[in-house]
Amino acid sequence: IQRTFSIIKPDATKRNLTGAINAKIEAAGLRIIAQKRIRMTREQAETFYGVHRERPFFGELVEFMISEPVVVQVLEGENAIAKYREVMGATDPDEAADGTIRKDFALSKGENSVHGSDAPETAAEEIAYFFAGLDLV
Ligand code: ATP
Ligand code: MG
Repeated sequence: IQRTFSIIKPDATKRNLTGAINAKIEAAGLRIIAQKRIRMTREQAETFYGVHRERPFFGELVEFMISEPVVVQVLEGENAIAKYREVMGATDPDEAADGTIRKDFALSKGENSVHGSDAPETAAEEIAYFFAGLDLV
């Protein structure tokens, strides 16, 4: 059993798609074991996407992530990290497979509805950054 960290991004919360996205998460066999709606601070967004600091889209990405509240989540299940990335689909919705969250809901490569951790180390870091251990059962 593995855990991964998920964010339902501003383009999706704004369009009231949290439930529709959660339905796809649950249908894939992943359990939502923690969830809260927060307004990310600029500092949190810059730290969270720190690996992309030098990329041309960094400023736009930070502004987007703080533009509306987001829903941060912890998902649990067999192979949760890889499984959730499959459910999310490719970063660019035009390249995402049918039935994936990004294919069905994302607006663009930037406004692409969800984030999911890409490895066990980043999953652990991202979960610890947004949730205290006691919040997870
Ligand atoms: P995430 O890390 O959010 O789960 P990802 O792993 O599919 O998505 P990354 O390459 O890590 O994609 O990029 C992080 C985020 O930065 C993307 O989800 C997207 O919101 C934004 N992004 C990536 N590439 C671009 C781009 N070319 N133009 C605009 N925004 C981009
Ligand atoms: Mg990524």
